[in-house]
Amino acid sequence: MTQPTSEQLFERAQQHIPGGVNSPVRAFKGVGGTPVFFDHAKGAYMFDTQGKRYIDYVLSWGPMILGHNAEPVTQAVHAQIDKAMSFGAPTLLEVEMAEKVCEIIPTIEKVRMVNSGTEATMSAIRLARGHTGRDLLVKFEGCYHGHADSLLIKAGSGALTLGVPTSPGVPASVAKHTITLEYNNIDDVKKCFAELGDQIAAVIVEPVAGNMNCIPPREGFLEALRSVCDESGAILIFDEVMCGFRVALGGAQAHYGVKADLTTLGKVIGGGMPVAAFGGRADIMDSLAPTGPVYQAGTLSGNPVAMAAGLAVLDEISKPGVYEQLTERTTALVSGITNAAKDAGIAMTSNQVGSMFGLFFTDQTSVSSFAETSKCDSNAFNTFFHGMLEEGVYLAPSSYEAGFMSLSHSEQDIDDTVAAATRVLSKMAAQ
Ligand code: PMP
Repeated sequence: MTQPTSEQLFERAQQHIPGGVNSPVRAFKGVGGTPVFFDHAKGAYMFDTQGKRYIDYVLSWGPMILGHNAEPVTQAVHAQIDKAMSFGAPTLLEVEMAEKVCEIIPTIEKVRMVNSGTEATMSAIRLARGHTGRDLLVKFEGCYHGHADSLLIKAGSGALTLGVPTSPGVPASVAKHTITLEYNNIDDVKKCFAELGDQIAAVIVEPVAGNMNCIPPREGFLEALRSVCDESGAILIFDEVMCGFRVALGGAQAHYGVKADLTTLGKVIGGGMPVAAFGGRADIMDSLAPTGPVYQAGTLSGNPVAMAAGLAVLDEISKPGVYEQLTERTTALVSGITNAAKDAGIAMTSNQVGSMFGLFFTDQTSVSSFAETSKCDSNAFNTFFHGMLEEGVYLAPSSYEAGFMSLSHSEQDIDDTVAAATRVLSKMAAQ
């Protein structure tokens, strides 16, 4: 049976869903055109309502590290659904999940499950504030930590400018407690702590930034955060919702060898189900209710179907060779595309950490901050994005998002993607 086209569905969607989507970036606002409406997915591929196949490098914005509908996950989900969908009471699966997370990420001594990355960061911040008795929060420009009020804050012009809200609806009285600094700028961090260190509850950072395209930490940046937090008594929160289980099994903290006090996790941990978590030092986590006074709760938190899916993913990615394969394939993809750009005479640079990558249309030799990512040629990106979409390659519909590799992407998929990029880039060069 033929299904409606994406154009027809987008028209219908806009009647009853704001902007036609349930999360803004899906609307293709930045790149223009009609969002693709999908019907099903398997492995490295997604299929739209007309049956067109796309090689997928968005992977539901990160979670599908095994590829879509991996058998161990679907089997675990089916088996659990036959037993129960939700109890709102403790289960063995939650205990197994907590044990597994603490084993994989040793800085996490205790962990609590939640339903979205936003919930995880929001809860971690409340916990940090409750535990330290301080209000100020330090974040970095270009890092995204979900849409909780304290985190939707833009930087002012000066490094120590107290926050102004990015979104209407965030009270100025809330925003003023958030300080936004430049990512990768150690001097800014030191200055800020010299002035306000004893009032700062927490520093929250994406240890590999994935929401301003892909920007790795500069050497010494994470270490500097660790030391200012140690000196001031502030809590260091690594937001590993995206890079956790992605840049390495143990996340960015394993990759760079810097310890967080609290870590937020999401995406991969749920294998496509709405799951996230926050955890860390036991003394901090014990400040949470019911042991401690900081309140945090959730009707569906630790949901058994979601836990079954997540555990199946964690089992698969714990097997030997997984991260070597992911990294190798990502390197092949990124070098294939950047070489194609060079051959076509189009200025492009790239960043990659494990299976997270970013392509930048720019003649800057490196991109390491929000200011630098903002200088890239967004028109070139948009043309490239649409060219690739036409070719059946699905990239994130924004130049501010990282790309991802899955275990299902074959060498042939990479070759096909590079061949498509070569065609698109030479057409762009000819224009
Ligand atoms: N933190 C980071 C680093 C993220 O990338 C995201 C989402 N992309 C979030 C938090 C928010 O997660 P969610 O969309 O599940 O609320």
